[in-house]
Formats: sequence, C-alpha cells, structure tokens
Amino acid sequence: MSLKLSREAFDDVLKDLGKEYKIYAPIRIKGEGRFSDTDVVRYGEVSGLDEIEIHEKAHFSPKEILFPITQTLFYFTEGDYQEPKDDQKKIIVFLRPCDINGVTRLDQVFLENGEDKDIYYERLREKVKFFMIECIEGFDNCFCVSMDANKTEKYAAAIRFGDDMFVEIKDEALTNAFQEKGEFVNFEPTFIHENLVNVKLPDIEQITTETFEDDMWKEYAQRCIACGRCNFVCMTCSCWTMQDIAYDENNSSGERRRVWAGCHVDGFTDMAGGHGFRKNYGDRMRFKTMHKINDFKKRNGYHMCVGCGRCDDVCPEYISFSSCINKVTKLVGEERKQ
Ligand code: SF4
Ligand code: SF4
Repeated sequence: MSLKLSREAFDDVLKDLGKEYKIYAPIRIKGEGRFSDTDVVRYGEVSGLDEIEIHEKAHFSPKEILFPITQTLFYFTEGDYQEPKDDQKKIIVFLRPCDINGVTRLDQVFLENGEDKDIYYERLREKVKFFMIECIEGFDNCFCVSMDANKTEKYAAAIRFGDDMFVEIKDEALTNAFQEKGEFVNFEPTFIHENLVNVKLPDIEQITTETFEDDMWKEYAQRCIACGRCNFVCMTCSCWTMQDIAYDENNSSGERRRVWAGCHVDGFTDMAGGHGFRKNYGDRMRFKTMHKINDFKKRNGYHMCVGCGRCDDVCPEYISFSSCINKVTKLVGEERKQ
C-alpha cells in the first residue's frame, strides 16, 4: 500500500504511533559538534516530523538503538542478581538503506554467529521496525553502491520526504495508522545508483601473508592517533567489553555493564602481564580493514562494511578508509565479478 500525505497528516500519524512505539530518528543537537559552534546529528527519540534531520547524514549510526553504548546486563548483591526491567514499548527507527544493511551485519554477529544468540541484542531487535528514508543522492564519502549496500527490501515502511510525504507500507500492522490520513498513489522508493566515491574491492583469494606484511600499513602507524572515532561511528563495528561497577555504599552490590569497545583504541587487545597484540597503530588499521573487507566475507559471504563513509567523515587525521580499500585492491588485484 502506498500513500501521499501532507506533512501535517504524517505528523499526526507519528503522534499516534508514539503511543505504541518509541520513535527514533536522526536529530540535530546544536553546539555539540566536533568544533565550537558546530552541531552533531545523531539518533534520538522524536515525537514529530520537524524534529527529524533529513538534510545531513547522521554523524553517528543508529546501531546504538539495538546495541547501546552502555547497557546494564544485571544488578548484583551478595548472593543474588536481577536483570533490569524491560521497556515494553516497541520501536520504530528512521534510517537509510545502508544502515538497514548494517543491521543485517549486526544480526549476523549477534544472532547467527554460532549456536547461541546474544539475548540482549535479540530482545531489542525483536521490537524494532524500520522506516526507510529514501536516499537518492547520498553524501560526501558515501560508497554504499560499491559495497552493494545501497538497496534493501527489509523495511516496514519506506518514506520519501518533501512538501508532501510519500509512504510505501509493507507492514500490515501499520496500515490502520496511515490509511485514513492520505490518498492512495503509486509509490515505490528509489535507490542511489552512483556515489561520489567509488571503491574497487580486492579479490580476497589473492590476499596473502605478504598483503598483511606490506609497507602500506606503515603509513597508518604514522598518521593514526588511535582515537577510535572511526570505530564508534561505524554502523557495523560491534565489539564490546565488560565493566563491573561496585557501588560506593556497599562494595558487594553493583551492576555489570557492557560498553562499546574498538580495535583502534588502546587497551583493546591487552592481556594479563601487559601483553598486547596490536600496539602499533598501523597494525590496528590493518586489522580493521581486513575484518571489514576480507575475513568477514570469507566467513559469511558478504562484506562487513556497508560504505556509509562515517569513518572517513569523522577521522581527525583525514585517514580515508575507502582509499585504504583501494590501496589493498591495487596491491592484490581487483575483485573478480561473479
Ligand atoms: S568501515 Fe566506515 S564506511 Fe564501512 S560501515 Fe564502518 S563507518 Fe561505514
Ligand atoms: S578515526 Fe582516524 S585517527 Fe582515529 S582511530 Fe580511526 S583511523 Fe585512527
């Protein structure tokens, strides 16, 4: 079912849906950006259409809705533990096709990586419906087309923003909320076919020990400052670590949290005795690159990176991940077409 709605009517629908769902979308937070007097665009709860920032790429990805930055897994006291109360409200997320494809990668990591599912991720994941934001032009540094992540069918509704709103609704549970508010039209979302940035992917069969030992990685040892920004904005970085927080009042009670971690950040590979696998920052760049475009594909049949370009947008050292992929490809030869 596809409809055309006025912006006011769409706003009414959101307000209705807000009774049953928490609605998340990119929002602009003034003055909280990287530099003074700049804004940040990141995911937050919205109650109306005008709160949604549509003209700029979200600097942070929507992964924090499914995989929170900090998540309490349980509270403990001397001989007992208790899980936090579950919020019963369902969730709607406005996001672009690359990010929906990013969720496929998170599903792979948290739900399909061995026999056991990650129950904390699964609980949130089961509540979420996607409202796909039609993305026709992309932004600087996007290379989703090269990564085959520019299109998706996995949405409950697809939205074209404008003076009038066009909506394709796939999820029947949403039909009632929309159908009285608009007129029936033929609408299907369009997907971007070309980005400003193109990436050539390597033939992963040609990646060898020599590729790992090549001098190309030395450049990153010089330039990278291990800030981890590229990890934390990435839609598909899914590493975490554990923190036990003991309360001041009683050291035998507290909570266990999982918090985001990143392979670029100091301490990520530290072991007892002060040993660390990747103290050299170039080794960290190599590890991330090879995980995103080599070993994940060998294991799962598709690349981990979705080409959202946020890592390139955010790096304070202007390190370009898309250029890094192209350098690996130049080293080993271009990917064979299927
Ligand atoms: S590696 Fe960079 S381009 Fe790829 S998904 Fe992560 S942030 Fe996006
Ligand atoms: S954002 Fe740039 S400098 Fe920071 S860890 Fe990533 S590659 Fe290194």
